[in-house]
Parts: sequence; structure tokens; C-alpha cells
Amino acid sequence: MGSSSVETLEYQAETRQLMRLVIHSIYSNKDIFLRELISNASDALDKLRLESLTDSSLVEDGTDLHISLEVDKDARTLTVTDNGIGMSRDDLVDLIGTIAKSGTADLLAKIKESKDAATAENLIGQFGVGFYSAFMVADKVTLRTRRAGTDSGTEWESDGEGAYTIQAVDGLPVGTSVTLHLKAADSEDGLADYLSESKIRQIVKHYSDFIRWPIRMTTEHTDAEGATTRDIDTLNSMKALWARPRTEVTEDEYREFYQQISHDWLAPAETIHMRAEGTFEYEALLFIPSQTPFDLYTRETKGGVQLYVKRVFIMDDCEALMPNYLRFVKGVVDAHDLSLNVSREILQQDRQIRGVRRRLTKKVLGAIKDMQSKDAERYANVWAQFGRALKEGLIEDTDNAETLLELVSAASTQDAEKTTTLREYVERMKDGQDAIYYLTGETRAMVENSPHMEAFAAKGYEVLILTDPVDEVWADQVPDFDGHRLQSIAKGQVDLDDSAAGDKEADADKAQREQDFAALLPWLTTALSEQVKEVRLSSRLTTSAACIVGDAHDMTPTLEKMYRAMGQQLSTVKRILELNAAHPLITTLRTAHDADPANPALAEIAELIYGSALLAEGGDLPDPARFTRLLTDRLTSTL
Ligand code: ADP
Ligand code: MG
Repeated sequence: MGSSSVETLEYQAETRQLMRLVIHSIYSNKDIFLRELISNASDALDKLRLESLTDSSLVEDGTDLHISLEVDKDARTLTVTDNGIGMSRDDLVDLIGTIAKSGTADLLAKIKESKDAATAENLIGQFGVGFYSAFMVADKVTLRTRRAGTDSGTEWESDGEGAYTIQAVDGLPVGTSVTLHLKAADSEDGLADYLSESKIRQIVKHYSDFIRWPIRMTTEHTDAEGATTRDIDTLNSMKALWARPRTEVTEDEYREFYQQISHDWLAPAETIHMRAEGTFEYEALLFIPSQTPFDLYTRETKGGVQLYVKRVFIMDDCEALMPNYLRFVKGVVDAHDLSLNVSREILQQDRQIRGVRRRLTKKVLGAIKDMQSKDAERYANVWAQFGRALKEGLIEDTDNAETLLELVSAASTQDAEKTTTLREYVERMKDGQDAIYYLTGETRAMVENSPHMEAFAAKGYEVLILTDPVDEVWADQVPDFDGHRLQSIAKGQVDLDDSAAGDKEADADKAQREQDFAALLPWLTTALSEQVKEVRLSSRLTTSAACIVGDAHDMTPTLEKMYRAMGQQLSTVKRILELNAAHPLITTLRTAHDADPANPALAEIAELIYGSALLAEGGDLPDPARFTRLLTDRLTSTL
């Protein structure tokens, strides 16, 4: 190689500052330097291929476009070489010696203000300081390059401090090689042994497996006789399925890929593969698993979507790409126009990423909706596995509430074996029924046997049986479905009288009842004032003596329990005791009270009625010992 005079050039002041930050303080994870260099090499190969489409002389026939990694243990160097587009001398000065991006000064000012390394790293992430990351692990970098279509090459060298040298070099091949003179491995500084073949393999596999060009490494092996053989290995699989057109990927390939990223041995229930073009390009390959991972409902569970930028792995569990309630979705999103150093915080705030998330959410929900109409069995399985999570969406994601409500599948009094959708429920609604009735509780049996159910069962109204803890919340928050109110049968006033309003006879009966109980009800309200806010007559009971109901906007007891279990301080929500005016116990109590309001047995019986109503709905007695004593005394005196 011939060479000419060496020129020494200073870095721009801003570049120097930024480099110092990158090298000395910013990155906690130094491994990423290799990802950055490989990504640059891959871009250079892409550019060469693109230019060769219009100028075929740039690439000789049979050229094997690739990236190669070479380690020299004696010299302590690692070299990343590509036979891509290369750089001219001017390119080098412009691209490597300058950070010619707008906003550099602003960025530096913000970094100086930032209090901790994490904030600084986030800021840097918006910028992308790729090439300079080499100086995190090297104390000298030598770059040799020749631009395709030109004759002269350039060598660039720097220690990453104030200046770099540049000189013309003859005889270089087309492309670029970057040689890192590595700092000594030092665990304290987070420096691994980047001369180690296994370390390099591991980093490439982790970050650059899907780079579309082969990344090769030459390794030397010495056998027992001392003979040395050289092997050339390709380290990356290059199989970025998401970047291929749908029609060119087989079901088997999708399944294998899914199994690889999810560690699930079953086939996915659904595969969604899409490409978005326009101002923000990305590809997405998403899967709905066919079974719930064991940790889906624990609090720490994060999402399952990985983020790539132009086939370079960026992060796992990218929560910015999928709402929390779809955390069971697995897959990959490859966005083309992001910095490789983009951080979670930046992604959360990025308007375009939010757009991607909205679109992907709709895609996933749409796929489940399709399944519902085309493949009922598969949909039923997906709902059984992930329904609980999807119902969280009714609380988190009001934008998609309509679709989510269509997906809801619930147990119902209509059929003990089958669940129903809200749409099917509405189709079965009785004439004149305006609300969708439901009751929440801990188990199906408890809900079915609850006294609240009596009048609805007697009159043949269908009631949805909701037993997931999350049902307590969404059913309360969602106002209506398809114009029909969702109404808990344990809340508010219920009037199931078939008789049309204005029915004189029914009205007269009701007025008579109110008059009969005019003395007892206020007395009971006072006697039980610790426990309830009101005692009134019920129209929802047929066989039970009493039940407890909430006001329309009260928290249910189960929800109250959930909040308490989560450590929230709540004042007790007092509910309403409703009495069955036709029940012998209640009529006898009334007669006894009317005869002698001072009778001491009355207060105890009132307490027993309240306690029994609480037990009937599956509630917990505040003082079980006292309840048992009152009951025992009462039974003894009857015999
Ligand atoms: P970015 O990749 O985000 O542009 P980098 O600091 O990684 O930032 O690289 C700066 C520029 O240097 C690249 O945009 C590219 O033009 C040039 N460059 C770096 N590495 C190579 C390479 N191996 N071949 C050709 N050009 C390169
Ligand atoms: Mg780069």
C-alpha cells in the first residue's frame, strides 16, 4: 500500500463534547458498540445494492456482499469489515468528523442539566451516536475505506480525544473496515473480553441475528499435532420473517419463529403479519398464543413485543407498542426510522409510536373479532385464555370499548353450559326490557343462589353471571352496549312489575304495603344504622326474607374487598337492606313491632335478618361469634 501525507484535523467542538459523554459516562451497556458497527456495515451494503441498480459497474458480477469480523488476539484488535458503498475523503470528514445534525447544541445543554446517567442516556438515545460508541471499548480506532466507483482510498484514525488523522491510501478494496484497538478487559468498567469468540457470537446473536447480510467470523483452531485450520462461520440466521412478503412465508416457518421468540411449544392461535408504508415505515409480525403463560396475571408481567430498528434488535417487552391489556401478544415490530439508542421513555412519548400502537391494537382486536365470526371454537379458546386480560381493556382503552364489548363472552342464567356474547343477550331480551342485567360474585353458584336473583328468575329475565374480579370494575364503568344500559341486579331500585304503569290495582297494593310498614321501616333503619343506610321494601324477592343492595353508584362489596387487599384505605360503604313484604318472618316482625315497639327481641331479630342477608350473598359477617350467639339463643327460646 502506498500512502501520502497525513493530515490532522480537529473534531468540531460539539462533536468532541458529545464523544466525551458517550465514551466516559453514558452507556451502561458497552456491548452495543458492535451492534452499531454492524448496523452501519449493513446500511453500507444496502446502499451499494441500491446504487448498483442504476449503475451496474459498481458491483462486479459474483461479488459476495457480506460483513466480516476478525479478531487478532496478539494485536488486541477487532475489525469489522464490509464490502459496501464505502466513503470518500469528504464523506469521512462530513460523516465521521462532524455531527451535522440540527439540535446538537440544544441536546448538549439538556445533557449537562440532566441529573443522572439514565436521563443522559435517554437524551443521547434521541440522537444516535452510533459510530462513536466504538470508543467505549477501544482507545484507538482505524478506519479504512474506499467509495465504490472511485480509485483512491482513505485511512482515518483517532484516539477519540481531540483530533483525528486522515490520509490517502492506495490499494484498498471497495468498502469499509473499522479496526478497534481494544482497551484491556476490565469488569469494573463493564468491559468484557471482546476478543473472545464466544462473546462476539453472543452479542451478534442477540442484537444482529436478523441482519440481512451474512456476518462471518474467521476462527482458527489448532489441532493436537499443532496444525492450524481456519473456519469461516456465519453468525447470524438472517431469517427476518417479518421482512418477507406474507405469501413467501409458510405456516411452518411462522410457527417455528413464534416458538423461538415465545418459548411456547404450542402453535399460536393467530398470526398477524403486516407492513405499514408512508411517513413512518414498519413491519409487524404478531402472534396470539393459544395458551396463557403462567405469569400473565402477576403484576410484573410485561408485554411480549420486541422492537427492532432495521433488523437490529433494540429491546424486549416494548410496552410502548402494545397496551398493557394485550400483554399476551408476542412478536416483533421493526421500525425503520428510529435511532438504535431509542429508550423506553422516548418511545412512550413518541407520537408516531403511539400511532403504531393504535394501529396494532386495532389489528389484534380485529383478528379476534374475525375469529369470533369465522371460527367459534378457536375464539372460545382465545377468550378462555385471555378474556380476563381483554376485559381490562374495557377499563384502560375506551377508544376500543365498542369492539371489546363485542368480544366479551359471559356466563348467563340462560344456559349453564354455554357462555353468551352481549349481542346474543340483546337478541334474547324480553319485550319492554331495556337493560342488560348482570350480577357479580365470587362463584357461579353464589351468584345463582343469591337472593337478588329471585324475582329475575321468577319473571324469566336472563342475568349475566360475572365472576372474574375484573368484571366488578368494567361492568360498573361501561355505561351501555348497543344502547342498552348495563344494570347490576344488586344495585338501585328494581321494578319488574309486568303491570303497565298506571295499573290502578297494582298501585293500590303498593300504597297499602307502604302504609302497613310505615312504622317498622324507620324503626329498623335506626336500629341497624351501624350496618345500613336504609331499610326498605323490595320488589326483587320471592322466597328470601331480605337482601342487601347498593345504590346505583356504590362500590360492590367484592370490589371493596379487592381495594382493601391492595392496601387502599376506604371508609365502609353502607348499603340498603331490602325486605320481602310477603315473607312470614317480615310480616310477623311487623305485627310484633306494631304491638310493642319496645320489645327487646326486635333489635336482635333485625340483626339476624341483616346477617342472614349478608351470608346469602356470600359476604363476611363483621362479628360471626355474636351472630351465632344471637341465633342460638333465638332457636333455644323457640323450642
Ligand atoms: P448513523 O448510522 O445513525 O447515521 P453513525 O454514527 O453510526 O450514525 O454513522 C455516521 C455515518 O457514517 C453514517 O450515516 C454513514 O454515512 C457513515 N458510515 C459509518 N459507517 C460506515 C460504513 N461501514 N460504510 C459506509 N458508511 C459508513
Ligand atoms: Mg449507525
